[in-house]
Amino acid sequence: MSAMMTTADSGFIPSGSSDGSLGHLVSGDVDLTHNVILYLENISVSFDGFKALNNLSLSIDVGELRCIIGPNGAGKTTMMDVITGKTRPNSGTAFFGQTLDLTRLTEPQIAHAGIGRKFQKPTIFEHHTVFENLELAMKTDKRVWKSLFSTLDDDTRDKIADTLKLIRLDTQANRVAGLLSHGQKQWLEIGMLLMQEPRLLLLDEPVAGMTDDETERTGELFKSLAGKHSLVVVEHDMAFIEQLGGKVTVLHEGSVLAEGDLATVQSDERVIEVYLGR
Ligand code: ADP
Ligand code: MG
Repeated sequence: MSAMMTTADSGFIPSGSSDGSLGHLVSGDVDLTHNVILYLENISVSFDGFKALNNLSLSIDVGELRCIIGPNGAGKTTMMDVITGKTRPNSGTAFFGQTLDLTRLTEPQIAHAGIGRKFQKPTIFEHHTVFENLELAMKTDKRVWKSLFSTLDDDTRDKIADTLKLIRLDTQANRVAGLLSHGQKQWLEIGMLLMQEPRLLLLDEPVAGMTDDETERTGELFKSLAGKHSLVVVEHDMAFIEQLGGKVTVLHEGSVLAEGDLATVQSDERVIEVYLGR
């Protein structure tokens, strides 16, 4: 019995924890002492000499809901690729909280540290139920280990139930995910991200293809997530951005062209010229 406990205990320890430099990572702690969750400074990314990002600087506060707009090719997706470790910048710094240097972490380490990303196309398990999708998305921690030995524990059940309500799929829990509407699939994927308790959520065009009603409900969901989470939302839908009501950053040719509330950036002549006026 004691031998089994030893095996089980060691099974909890993530591989990085013996490395002192990653110790704070695996415990999930992010240093938020200056109230900044994400800090990019002078980030540049070149693809064959073409600068997709050109000295991009951006700072997101803890609990903030930030919208990123800008013409196609402005570098919005590339910026998210840098934050999630998919693309390494050629120069510049990127910090998650005060201490985690994103340019030195792998994609799984960044996800584990608490950055969740939603891509445009939902990546749900179509043949599993909505409930199972949320279950499968659980963070690989003690609770998952426990579930190997027993049925789902009460905490996990409660968490899935809470998430189902939040994403308005509580009446669809036992439905096969492939049968959901486009909007419901998007919400399910957001729910799957939430199961991992990310501090920062990156959402690339989350309401594309949604009905007006689904878009409005998504706006309500995001507003309810802000505060507890920080959100960076890339969108083109101006009514949606207005509903969200946060600060807006306009990207153009890989840098920040303007930043402020929606009314301010919408009346900015440079923004009208490169983006809104077309
Ligand atoms: P946005 O999301 O704002 O539309 P992207 O970040 O996708 O812009 O792209 C910015 C620019 O970088 C575009 O001109 C795009 O063609 C280019 N780009 C993006 N990814 C790559 C890549 N892997 N290789 C070459 N060029 C790329
Ligand atoms: Mg894009």
